[in-house]
Amino acid sequence: MPALVFDPAMRERIAQSTRRAAFYCGAVASLESALKHHGTRLVVRRGPLISTARALAREVGAETVIWSTAYDAASVARERQLQSAFEEAGLRAIAVHDAPTVPPEETAAVRSDEGGAGYRALAPYIAAWEETRRAPVKGTIRFERDTFPSDAPPTPVEFGAAPLAEEPSETRALAALDAFLAGPALQYRTARNIPADESTSHLSADLSFGTIGARTVVARIDARLRDAFLLSEERLSLETFRRALAQRDFFLQLAWFFESRPDEPLQPKMRHFPVAERHPALEAWREGCTGYPLVDAGIRQLRATGWMHPRVRLVAASFLCFDLGVDWRVGRDAWERDLVEDDPALANGNWQWVAGVGADLAQFPRIYNPRKQARAFDSRGTYVRRWIPELATVPDADLADPSSAGRQAQIALPLFDGTAYPAPVVDHEGAAREFLRRYVEFVSTPTWRG
Ligand SMILES: Cc1cc2nc3c(=O)[nH]c(=O)nc-3n(C[C@H](O)[C@H](O)[C@H](O)COP(=O)(O)OP(=O)(O)OC[C@H]3O[C@@H](n4cnc5c(N)ncnc54)[C@H](O)[C@@H]3O)c2cc1C
Repeated sequence: MPALVFDPAMRERIAQSTRRAAFYCGAVASLESALKHHGTRLVVRRGPLISTARALAREVGAETVIWSTAYDAASVARERQLQSAFEEAGLRAIAVHDAPTVPPEETAAVRSDEGGAGYRALAPYIAAWEETRRAPVKGTIRFERDTFPSDAPPTPVEFGAAPLAEEPSETRALAALDAFLAGPALQYRTARNIPADESTSHLSADLSFGTIGARTVVARIDARLRDAFLLSEERLSLETFRRALAQRDFFLQLAWFFESRPDEPLQPKMRHFPVAERHPALEAWREGCTGYPLVDAGIRQLRATGWMHPRVRLVAASFLCFDLGVDWRVGRDAWERDLVEDDPALANGNWQWVAGVGADLAQFPRIYNPRKQARAFDSRGTYVRRWIPELATVPDADLADPSSAGRQAQIALPLFDGTAYPAPVVDHEGAAREFLRRYVEFVSTPTWRG
């Protein structure tokens, strides 16, 4: 009997972003219709997770309860309590790894040095992932045909959101994946870095809410790779795309094995590194008004659509952590209000990786130069102009640094009017060097070891 317990913690998470709420409610609605098609119905119960799930199991006479596990520390802790509650009630409780392609324990088991422990570094993890992944097994599920009372499923209106024009569903996600594999995926290796092209799969929200399974995505990539007429660059691109799915599994297993407390940097040394909660330019960063076009275009894309191009995420996150010296958690929480994807383990893992506080210890922080990144990956300014209309008339050559062009243009032409694009809120080179000075001083003093 398929059931959804819609509890206050879940409600709180999806309520953070109205787009996320609309996607989640749409996904629940499409799950309901898919189950109807299989002759059953989704039983929805609203209330606190443990008492509601236990009462439902008792009511329907269940002997076994199975659920798909989450990975972030807060959810894992809740699920442990859920497991104990079911076991105390004499039920079999099984949490399955349905989100990743390969369950964390399977990759960990092949470690030759520390069998059983997870991976802190990506490269050895990918090797283990390649070794352990298997083709998905097709099973048959027989559904309960009795009907049990159900609460109303969540709707977008409850969250002040409008329903999505196209309901998220497995059919829609599979069609998007197939269209991607037929064309853009064949150039993924280079195109994934060009934000203007939007040539990544855009599957993150579907993966996060389960309207498509990671195993399905990998199986279809594998099937595409069997095409004997692929050029070697196309083959490499598909393999790179498959590695993106492995990277997703990497961050899930990182949270599974190493995240013991929510919000805590995985790198013990960096737990004591002083970071600011505020900065005079923090609001400008949140609004996409830092004066660095690539950073601002990314933030504006996120605020307008609920998604930001992956390459630009790196640059915008780096700017917050290093140019402004602000805590990565402040950035993560700011994005939570707009993102459609709901994957705390992936958000934490990526933000910690950028901030240099994650499991793998980079020798130096990964500081991105926003102007160089713009010149390298948006040289014609197509992406930046799409999201920053104030820059529409600035010549290509001045786009990465429009403030200097603006100063000259203000004399020659009335280019910058009341809707002027802001001057840079900080000097990137100066701010980055100051951060590095603090970082080097911190890591070379022994105090953190205590
Ligand atoms: C600072 C920062 C914060 C991020 N926060 C989130 C987040 O909150 N939720 C989230 O799901 N992703 C997050 N990501 C990872 C990635 O940017 C997004 O998943 C993005 O939406 C991928 O777009 P896509 O689906 O077009 O990716 P594609 O390039 O088409 O990749 C296919 C899939 O692989 C997975 N993937 C690709 N890159 C990563 C990665 N770096 N880490 C984990 N999985 C990856 C995603 O599931 C993605 O949908 C973050 C990345 C950065 C740098």
